[in-house]
Parts: sequence; C-alpha cells; structure tokens
Amino acid sequence: MSTPLSWIEPHPHGIFIAPADCWIDPSRAVPRALVTHGHADHARGGHGETMATPETLAIMQLRYTTRQGTQPAQYGETIRLRGGVAATFLPAGHVLGSAQILLEHAGERVIITGDYKRRPDPTCPAFAVTACDILITEATFGLPVFTHPPIAEEMAKLLKALADHREQCVLVGAYALGKAQRVIAELRAAGHHAPIYLHGAMEKMCRLYQDFGVDLGELRLVADHTREEMRGAIVIAPPSALADRWSRRLPDPITALASGWMRVRGRARQRGVEVPLVISDHADWNELTQTIEEVNPQETWITHGREAALLRWHQLHQRRARALALVGREDEEDD
Ligand SMILES: [Zn+2]
Ligand SMILES: [Zn+2]
Repeated sequence: MSTPLSWIEPHPHGIFIAPADCWIDPSRAVPRALVTHGHADHARGGHGETMATPETLAIMQLRYTTRQGTQPAQYGETIRLRGGVAATFLPAGHVLGSAQILLEHAGERVIITGDYKRRPDPTCPAFAVTACDILITEATFGLPVFTHPPIAEEMAKLLKALADHREQCVLVGAYALGKAQRVIAELRAAGHHAPIYLHGAMEKMCRLYQDFGVDLGELRLVADHTREEMRGAIVIAPPSALADRWSRRLPDPITALASGWMRVRGRARQRGVEVPLVISDHADWNELTQTIEEVNPQETWITHGREAALLRWHQLHQRRARALALVGREDEEDD
C-alpha cells in the first residue's frame, strides 16, 4: 500500500502527478501538462501534450503558436490519465477558460485551484466549491490588509473621472488577458455603451473573448482614430503603455490603473496613476479564508504568493497547512 497522497509531488517548477507522468502548470516544457489558465506564469509553450479548457488552449495558441498535442477538456468533463488518475476541470472564476483541476486517484481527491477569485465576473463562470482531501491554493493576496472593494465602486470612480474631463480621455492600464476584458464588460454592465478604444496589443485577446461569446460592445483601435474622436472616451492599454510615448497620441489622458496592487497607495503614486482602480482577478484575504472553510480540506497547500499569514490563520483555526515553494509565480501580468 502506498503512503497517502504520495502520488502528488510538489517541485519548484510545478506539481507532478507521478502515476500519470504528468505536470500541472509546469514552468518549463514537459511531455505532458495540465494547464489551469492562460497567464504566462502558468501556461508555457512547448509541451508535448497540453490538456486545458478549449478557451485556455485558444489563448495559448494565440500567444505561443502551440505545437501538436492538445487535448481540450470542458468544465465538468473528466479525463482519464495514465496510472488510474482522473482529472476534472472546474471553473475558477479568474479569467476566460480558467480552471481548478480536481485529481482523483486511489480514493483520494486533490484540487489545484490555479488562480481564482470569488467575485462575479461577466467574462467567466463562477468558482465551483468542490470537496477534496488536499486543496492546493494560490495566495497572491494572502495578507489581511488585502480586501478588494466591490467592483461597482471602482467603475463609478472611473466613470466619474470620465464625466469630469469630457475634453480629455481616461487611459486605463489593464493586463491584456482577463483584466482588460473584465473592465470593458463591467463598464458595459454599468451602462457605458460608447465605443471603447484599444491599444493594438489588446486587440487579438479582446476578439478571442468575443469569439467565445463575451459581449464587449463596440471596440475601436486607437491607431485607426484621431485625437479629436477620442475626446471623452475610455482607452484601454497595457500598464506599460501608460508612461510610454504611445500615449502622446491621446487627448490629454487622465491615467488609471486596474490592479489589486492599487490597494497599496505608494504603488499608484510611484507609477504616476491619477485614478487607482482596486480591481483584482485574485481572491482577497477574505475570499481565500472563506474558500478554505467552504471546501474544508484535510490539509491546505499554499503556493503562489504570501504564505506566512495564511499558514498562521490555519494554525489559529486548527487546520493543517504547508507552504510550497514553486518558482516563477510572481508574474506582473497576473494581478
Ligand atoms: Zn498566477
Ligand atoms: Zn492568472
């Protein structure tokens, strides 16, 4: 008889499922990978075979011209891996196509959350709470100081900045996969139906979202329009473009940045952001602890961020936990 859970091995460059000879979100190319979602710190190109949701595979194809060997898994569909391991992809509520992966073997259940959040997001289905023995959770915002405000408040801030500067434009920095489309969809939900202008680097990913049925309204490319046309408009660009000469073509932009890190005042100041928008696609402290309580695993493995406070929380609540040291999980893209 094997030791309980000896079949799942955390390594610095990913989680290895020994009987299936398969990796989860490996940070280097491997023969077989299960990928939770398309962000660069989880999805690398060059694997022999990649198993992921159809949305994540499409995102990877767009970014890496993925080679042969992809196996799509719909949410809720169970895939039989070698060695008697079953894998089921479940919604994680993080970005389009994002999944938790439930692994079952020898009567034991392990869930790797990937990145996740619990707030509603019009661009992807909500996180599915699922029972398991071991929960391997991210902890990007694993400090009690991190509480994300309701997104409606942040949208109101953004729309007020726009209304107060009709002769200018509001330039919103947002990462190209996930954050940009969520901000656009939330603006539409808040009743903003005017065309939204995009930096060229956003275009393909927005089209991909639209191809998967996410309604983003009318989008225009900055490059195709004049400064005059963009007065009173919202423009979305990668955060790196905020301070770039590219923004000189815009009509006196007011700069905003959508990121969970905007909770930290110094970060907004440091980047010269006039309208900090605290919008994150990760669970905040309360969502992390709520999720652990709801899933109620025998043990939590913490990865991907600030583990110390969450380890302490487990002690205080008589729960078992350990921290995993995975490398390369602090991607700037992912906030
Ligand atoms: Zn991540
Ligand atoms: Zn992510």
